[in-house]
Amino acid sequence: VTARTALVGGEILQRLNGRWVAAPATVVWADGRVVEVAPPGRSVQDATEVSAAGRLVVPGFLNAHYHSTDQLFRGQLDRGPLEAWVEPWGALGDLADEDVLAAAGWAALELLRSGTTRVIDHFAPARSANLVRKVLREYDSVGISATLAPLIGNRLYADVPPLGQGAEPTPDEVDTLLGEVADLVRGVSGRGHSLLLGPSAPQRCSDALLRGLDRLAREHDLGLHMHCAESPLHARTAGALWGTSAVQHLADLDLLGPRLSLAHCVWLTPDEIRLLADSGTTVVHNPTSNAALGSGIAPVRQLLDAGVAVALGTDGVEASGPTDIFRTLRDTHDLSRLRDADPATWLSTHEVLDLLWCGGRAVFGDRVGQVAEGADADLVLLDLGHPAFRPRVDVADQLVLHADPTAITDVYIGGRHVLRERATRGAEVDTALNRLEDAWQSVARLTEHRPPESYRQRVHAAYARRSNE
Ligand SMILES: [Zn+2]
Repeated sequence: VTARTALVGGEILQRLNGRWVAAPATVVWADGRVVEVAPPGRSVQDATEVSAAGRLVVPGFLNAHYHSTDQLFRGQLDRGPLEAWVEPWGALGDLADEDVLAAAGWAALELLRSGTTRVIDHFAPARSANLVRKVLREYDSVGISATLAPLIGNRLYADVPPLGQGAEPTPDEVDTLLGEVADLVRGVSGRGHSLLLGPSAPQRCSDALLRGLDRLAREHDLGLHMHCAESPLHARTAGALWGTSAVQHLADLDLLGPRLSLAHCVWLTPDEIRLLADSGTTVVHNPTSNAALGSGIAPVRQLLDAGVAVALGTDGVEASGPTDIFRTLRDTHDLSRLRDADPATWLSTHEVLDLLWCGGRAVFGDRVGQVAEGADADLVLLDLGHPAFRPRVDVADQLVLHADPTAITDVYIGGRHVLRERATRGAEVDTALNRLEDAWQSVARLTEHRPPESYRQRVHAAYARRSNE
């Protein structure tokens, strides 16, 4: 007989007629999957009862773009723009494995404490299958089911127009890199772990590399995840490199489609939006880092109107602040009001939750993003006595605009009780933070990898020129 658990006495958040509403119900699961969402009061046979009285029960939060290694750069990078901020990442290859793992260990706890049950970690440095497997174990140890997208590229920001023009990677260099990626894929996939290929961005990969990664992805039946159209300089880069837009370039390489998700997509033409919609490509909206780095505000309403699935990501902590999907929800809501003049286009709190859970399903699959029969028992419990929910008005408004991680009491992933009564074990938090702090000390030397002042000035001049155009 399979063990069944019945969560009783809580209010379950579900989507009805386009709105997220809470109603009392009992959730029953077995083997990690929900088998029944029953009306309250109906007795459930052969199940261990767990009380969720005074709790709002919502689907686990889906974070579709994150970089765990970013934890090591807290407070160390230039405050933007993107091209100046990101350049020291070139030194990632120098990091010791134990530092990278310390970052992943704390990232996993920080994600869990803010209710994230599924995450795409666009992970660097992707130097070996061994390291990637160890990072996945860091996530496993707190109970999070992570999808790793090893970050791959062969051009630097400084080497693409309008900031510079580096030498084109040679066929031998591309073959060597592809061989390393193939080894990594063989060493990680097929072991019950989720893996995507993570080209850094169209302009940071040569065409030969993108074609090779696409071939590899098809061979191993893997999806692809990459940054795209993040910065205002991006259109000039695309024009200079390919004589067309980035999304058209990806279409020309036959990369678009449901197995591709693109993070950011701030700067898109109407033609590019149509290409994304027609191909079924998913966009991951990262409003907080886009604002923090001055990248811009993505055209979410236009993407939704065209029929593009849009998921949400927090992006890394060095850009976005502490990992907190509640902030992403609020920023998604608020920034839609700054992007377009017509209030009729602004996103409602219910639509923001659609992005989180329905958009997230386009990336993570149909078994997540809802509390329903057949779904994974990935559940976040929030305290309805928390100030965010008092007085009780519209629960979607309160979740998006007022709640924060302190409202979370418990998290279940695949039916496992991985966060209990508000905190993970105190000692575990201290250990992870101490480990992170040690790692942070040892990589402080990476500030030496800051790009020269002349490069920073070149980036600033390129941004200033744009705003004067
Ligand atoms: Zn990113």
